[in-house]
Amino acid sequence: MPLSEFSIIDRFFRRQSTPKTLLSIGDDAALIEPPVGEVLAISVDTLVVGRHFPEQTTPADIGYKSLAVNLSDMAAMGAEPRWATLSLALPEVDEAFLQPFSDTLIALAEQHGVELVGGDTVRGPLTITLQIIGTLPAERALKRSGARVGDAIFISGTVGDAAQGLSFALAGHGQTDDEAYLLGRLNRPTPRVELGLALRGLATSAIDISDGLLADLGHILKQSGVSAEIFSELIPCSDALRAAVPELRERLPLMVAGGDDYELCFTVPESGVEELAKIAGVLSLPLTRIGTICEAGDSHSVLLDGKVLSQQGFDHFKGED
Ligand code: ADP
Ligand code: MG
Repeated sequence: MPLSEFSIIDRFFRRQSTPKTLLSIGDDAALIEPPVGEVLAISVDTLVVGRHFPEQTTPADIGYKSLAVNLSDMAAMGAEPRWATLSLALPEVDEAFLQPFSDTLIALAEQHGVELVGGDTVRGPLTITLQIIGTLPAERALKRSGARVGDAIFISGTVGDAAQGLSFALAGHGQTDDEAYLLGRLNRPTPRVELGLALRGLATSAIDISDGLLADLGHILKQSGVSAEIFSELIPCSDALRAAVPELRERLPLMVAGGDDYELCFTVPESGVEELAKIAGVLSLPLTRIGTICEAGDSHSVLLDGKVLSQQGFDHFKGED
């Protein structure tokens, strides 16, 4: 039985029990009140089926990832995620989509203390636009522009998993534990929100790895006016990825140019490196030093194993995977 727009909203999206906002879903606009002394961090991402995830992605995974990628942006900023709005274009009212989609989305929101405070629901090709709003003290924001010569370059977790997961998804694999793990890294990335908060006042710059390590580190370098020297043997790799792609020569392109891992890449001054070991312990999350920030020279290049990689170099890597 077709549901009206209002019952869709009530049934699937107006489900959070104790609204913390002044006014949430149901009026012409939501009213939110940032904590005194903090500023708002606002980000939005649109996911189009077939473009940002393969057609066969489950509604539950789509719901999860729509919010996860936005939480990742909050993490990369050092912001505490608080509110979200959801604009949903659906070809038809499809409960078999809406139930698992909203279940995982709302569950992830609750897990992070995020309240869905509004949105829009229209008919059209499946498109999900999720906006997230977080808060932070302005002076503690983790911008891309703060990396300084001599800073250590770190990444959280491992990279290359989601890129290999995508190959498995497209090939219809996912049976073995390793394959399932890598697919999970693609479909259910863990946004590193706690890490982002712990890096406030410690990291000089940060970005989340959505387009690939080289490309995203490249944004930090450009905005900070510096270069980087990194070493492939230091770049952390999961056992599952190593098993799936044993040859480093074949694995490296996935690790440096594969996107969608949503790990954080960040810089810290040498004096902060010790503190990071503690944070890694508390969060049970590996934080690995992969290199050092150096003078810009002519361009904001990455020196990988002593070889200069320009922007073309990144694209070249991309072409190989
Ligand atoms: P308006 O006519 O003002 O655009 P709508 O009828 O589109 O209002 O929406 C009614 C209420 O439901 C609003 O508070 C809106 O923010 C909320 N809403 C609509 N769609 C969604 C959705 N997909 N998720 C969450 N809230 C939604
Ligand atoms: Mg509307």
